[in-house]
Amino acid sequence: MATYAELGIRPVINGVGPATRLGGLPLADEIWQAMRAALDVSVRMDELHVAAGRRIAELVGAPDAFVTSGAAAALAMATTAAMTHGDPALLDRLPDVDGMPNEVIIQADHCDPYDRSVEAVGARILVAGYPGTTHPGEIERLISDRTAAMLYRPGRHGDLVDLATMGRIGAAAGIPVIVDAAVGVPPIGNVAAMFSDGASAIAVSGGKGLRGPQSAGLLLGVPALIADVGLAHWDMDEIAALWHNPHPAASGAERSAITPPRHGVARAMKVGREQIMGMLTAVERYVAAPAADEQAGIDELTAARAGLAQIPSIDVTQAHHAALDVPRLIVDFSASGADVFEVTRRLREGEPRVFLGEGAIDRQQLHVNPMALLPGDGHRIARRVAAIIDDLERERTVA
Ligand SMILES: *Cc1c(COP(=O)(O)O)cnc(C)c1O
Repeated sequence: MATYAELGIRPVINGVGPATRLGGLPLADEIWQAMRAALDVSVRMDELHVAAGRRIAELVGAPDAFVTSGAAAALAMATTAAMTHGDPALLDRLPDVDGMPNEVIIQADHCDPYDRSVEAVGARILVAGYPGTTHPGEIERLISDRTAAMLYRPGRHGDLVDLATMGRIGAAAGIPVIVDAAVGVPPIGNVAAMFSDGASAIAVSGGKGLRGPQSAGLLLGVPALIADVGLAHWDMDEIAALWHNPHPAASGAERSAITPPRHGVARAMKVGREQIMGMLTAVERYVAAPAADEQAGIDELTAARAGLAQIPSIDVTQAHHAALDVPRLIVDFSASGADVFEVTRRLREGEPRVFLGEGAIDRQQLHVNPMALLPGDGHRIARRVAAIIDDLERERTVA
């Protein structure tokens, strides 16, 4: 069996949380077993997608759902559906967008590097308003017959247009609103709330708050959109006369298409049966007991806090991470005289390697997130920070 060790790959202590660059979170045994069992037999992937999607939709309160390879893929797939509406001729043309609406409108404050996932399938982003402020009229003004969708990101603050207003604008113009809720769901209650505000599609990360497989996610959406998403994603190495779209909401034209589409742009975002069954199991687990998997990491956070509190020159406080709904530590180095970038470099490269949240490094702070911490990690983090602070103090005295 291949191992990290034989590749010379040193493990890291992940105090960042559900970060893709560190491989995401640990996976519960029950999810892992569901993934393993999914491989015991072969199945028709399109039928599995439809059935699992409907079950997940019931569990989270969405009209319909599709398991994707992540929230970023879900954004690309929702955009594809919004541009093509399942028309095989248009699907076969992408990412050449000639002859189809391909503009996606977003408020300036909602822009994010994940916008590349929308553009990857041929869409163009149009930005409305300014950082911190967008007026509804600035969105309406950008709508034309080239508009494919609007994109909304929850959790931003300012003089912004809320989802209900975007939903009203979208409904009046016949344009879907796609929500990037990668970190906005869970809580599960947000799903029904966002659909009632007028969302047509919601992208959710499987490997973040839901603690599912790292390369999985959900696209929640109205059934017609989900039927179109399957067309852009499924393996279409099919005999035309034998093929039909198994989704019950597929249009009559799609179901009896004499010329089904070939492999679509979303075929590159492949999902296996083990991701589908693992994601479904993760959703079942989450809905049954939302915070059940958080306690072990929170115990490590408590241990880290106790250890860090012994270091006189740094200040440790506990706060709540609103988007992920978990506690986190804020470790403040401003009184220590230590260069927090150098502390971070030494944490990353020392033994064991430690990665902490760097979102407030400009304020001399590092964050500790509990979600990926393993037994003993709390002590290890505190010990590494203490050793580095000691070393830096000694180096300063010598110099
Ligand atoms: C993490 C994230 C994504 C991507 O999620 P994946 O499941 O890793 O593809 C998209 N948008 C936002 C805002 C995110 O934070």
